[in-house]
Amino acid sequence: MSTRTPLMAGNWKMNLNHLEAIAHVQKLAFALTDKDYDGVDVAVLPPFTDLRSVQTLVDGDKLKIAYGAQDLSAHDSGAYTGEISGAMLAKLKCTYAVVGHSERRQYHAESDELCNAKVKAAFRHGLTPILCVGEGLDVRRAGRQVQHTLDQLDGGLQDVTAEQAETLVVAYEPVWAIGTGEVATPEDAQEVCGAIRGRLAELYGQEVADKVRIQYGGSVKSGNVAAIMAQPDVDGALVGGASLDVDEFVRIVRFRD
Ligand code: PEP
Repeated sequence: MSTRTPLMAGNWKMNLNHLEAIAHVQKLAFALTDKDYDGVDVAVLPPFTDLRSVQTLVDGDKLKIAYGAQDLSAHDSGAYTGEISGAMLAKLKCTYAVVGHSERRQYHAESDELCNAKVKAAFRHGLTPILCVGEGLDVRRAGRQVQHTLDQLDGGLQDVTAEQAETLVVAYEPVWAIGTGEVATPEDAQEVCGAIRGRLAELYGQEVADKVRIQYGGSVKSGNVAAIMAQPDVDGALVGGASLDVDEFVRIVRFRD
């Protein structure tokens, strides 16, 4: 029986301005009851410009919704125009920072080396990185999804200590399933999530590996979340499109009902 608390996180991507973010989080907070937070962690991952709005709500109302950023700089401060540092996110009391989302890897050419620097930057500032890994369609068709994903994991975790690793979140997101409506089967998700935990055990020992939360992401909806969550190595979901619909996200948080 796993002692890991599932993490249901909504990645808003580049959607919702800071006023819409307020309305969205208020609606979400109103819909979620104490029972919903019992044994499930809930988080939202808004654009940078919404974080202050979300923080104000969460601080003021003592909501149980955590929040984080969709990216962070590998650097702590200085001449990096347009970047946002881990220190800035920590100051806004973010809990999480997504690293290496496939859209960043694809559209901003983020390498494993850069993701690794961002993972370490997150840890330096007390943030929990959500390290995204996962294969594209060509890799899956070639049957190399496990090796490809483990290579990304190894690359992202260079020089990360066991003490840091046990607080990490890994999101397995097959690229072909993101925003496509094409969801991996529960068995597909388990195959790779199980392999990720196996590699974490090789790197850090079984005790650490057993603490790491591994999310699945890719067209998660209320209709498919329960089957995916029933897999032994899946500890939550990184939800994109469906997290923009509050009612649907609430149904996803209630995957056990
Ligand atoms: C994501 O953005 O991480 C994601 C999984 O998107 P979607 O749920 O829309 O596929």
